[in-house]
Amino acid sequence: MRRLKGDHADNLAPSSLSVAVSELGKREKHLRAAIISLGCAKNLVDSELMVGALLCAGIEITNDQARADAVIINTCAFIKSAKTESIDAVLEAVDFRDSRRRRQALIVVGCFPQRYRENLAALLPEVEAFAGTDEVGKIADLVREAVALRAMRLREESRLSRGAQRTRESGGHGPDRARRRQHREPATEMKRTVLTPLVMINRWPEYIPCADAPRFRLTPHHYAYLKIAEGCDHRCSFCVIPQVRGRQRSRTPEDIVAEARALIADGVRELNLIAQDTTAYGRDIVRRRAREAAAATGAALAGLGADGAPTLAMLLGELQKLPGDFWIRVLYTHPAHWTDELIKTIANCPKVARYVDIPIQHINDLILHRMRRDTRPEHIAGLLQKIRDAIPGVAIRTTVIVGFPGETDQCFEELLEFVKCARFERLGVFTYSHEEGTVAGRMADQVPEKEKRRRMRLLLREQRKIARDIAASFLGRRIRVLIEGNGSNDMFRHAAFSSEHGSIRIPGAISSEIQQHDWLVGRSEIDAPDIDGRVYVRGKWPVGEFANVRVIGHTDYDLVAELETARQS
Ligand code: SF4
Repeated sequence: MRRLKGDHADNLAPSSLSVAVSELGKREKHLRAAIISLGCAKNLVDSELMVGALLCAGIEITNDQARADAVIINTCAFIKSAKTESIDAVLEAVDFRDSRRRRQALIVVGCFPQRYRENLAALLPEVEAFAGTDEVGKIADLVREAVALRAMRLREESRLSRGAQRTRESGGHGPDRARRRQHREPATEMKRTVLTPLVMINRWPEYIPCADAPRFRLTPHHYAYLKIAEGCDHRCSFCVIPQVRGRQRSRTPEDIVAEARALIADGVRELNLIAQDTTAYGRDIVRRRAREAAAATGAALAGLGADGAPTLAMLLGELQKLPGDFWIRVLYTHPAHWTDELIKTIANCPKVARYVDIPIQHINDLILHRMRRDTRPEHIAGLLQKIRDAIPGVAIRTTVIVGFPGETDQCFEELLEFVKCARFERLGVFTYSHEEGTVAGRMADQVPEKEKRRRMRLLLREQRKIARDIAASFLGRRIRVLIEGNGSNDMFRHAAFSSEHGSIRIPGAISSEIQQHDWLVGRSEIDAPDIDGRVYVRGKWPVGEFANVRVIGHTDYDLVAELETARQS
């Protein structure tokens, strides 16, 4: 019943635990689990699949941690801040469990255990089970086993405390002490075998989702993430993802289209295609086919043999054919893998959002080389121009890293100048995170934290001006938005006057009058969920539906609009 993998498979006493699990099955009518999902959208999809698997196995999901028999924490370990957040979440769950529900089992899954698989039990001994990124479909078994282990731990704890009590009462010479001496500390032995956390981690992850896997979406009803591949074949020098998520495994186009069809039938209005590198989609299938062909013919591998192999462009073409009114948004592309065919496809597919997410990370040639980004400044600049020329109205989102080892003032100035010239519609800036186990982590010339933050501030200050100009350029334009929710005047006031977003600018309008209206919150084609701006819309409209609006104002990053079409909810 238990499927343990990796170096830690011998960590427990299987027979006693199996008995405990079967006893639990007789005793428990059903179990309840709560899930805490941290990290990126790719991790969120894994959480959704875990919830689906749990529900299928008859395990109830609760938002109330105090009622849960097991709490699952799906973690991130990409950079230092993500690791801190993951560890904090686990420690908070331990505190909560110890004060509110002592028999609750804690299960830590995802990138953190995958990355630190060697010393998990020492790092977080309070946890009952750890699972890597491959165990998504096996979570129900893990919950049962973790709950059983928790029960055993509590029994053992109380047995030990009874023994300690007896020892105290007998002045330290009681039968428990004598018995332990005789049997060479069985209590300690027991602790080491039975009480050690369960660990299910596959060293080389292989899992990819499929359309048939039960999935319970945790995003709002009207949008969904669609994971088209898992893992990454790049070896960027700052990144641990390939070590954590394994090599790239693409889903078949048929499987992705089947899932997209089901999501659209379920009312989804926006499909967000995700992978570590969406533009590398299909490349592993090409390699696999070439290997299979070589094995069948006995011939040596003859290159990639791209004939008929799936590509992102081909996939977009297939998704475009699906009936229904929806957007397709492509996230996480890599500048090295864009093709003319892909640009042409996006230009020709009206359902594909005029939005390109293309993390460039830097523009200085030396830094790109040290980052091992497989791309050069002239390629990036040329690609951006090509995209802008071929896709009118496109918005380009990028992310950059400042303070990478060896980034001199001059390298940074080059990046700053590039950001000013390229005028990205959306920009994310990260300070370089020093990560053990990466090539960049061993590089000399690490930049001090203070200097990284200074560079980040300079970039964000420039970008704020650019974003404000871009937002102002929308004034008077008619755009389509996806309505995400109803807003209150308070929310609008807060959003519109926050120091984070800048003051609202509505020509000719009096803010107090504006605040008397009903407000909706939506997103335009050039705003990805959670990371980009919003459109505040005056009026009433059904949530989860598209609306045509006219832009009447803006903040530094958001737009303010009124409904064009008269339709009341
Ligand atoms: S492309 Fe580079 S940065 Fe992105 S996941 Fe792969 S290795 Fe990490």
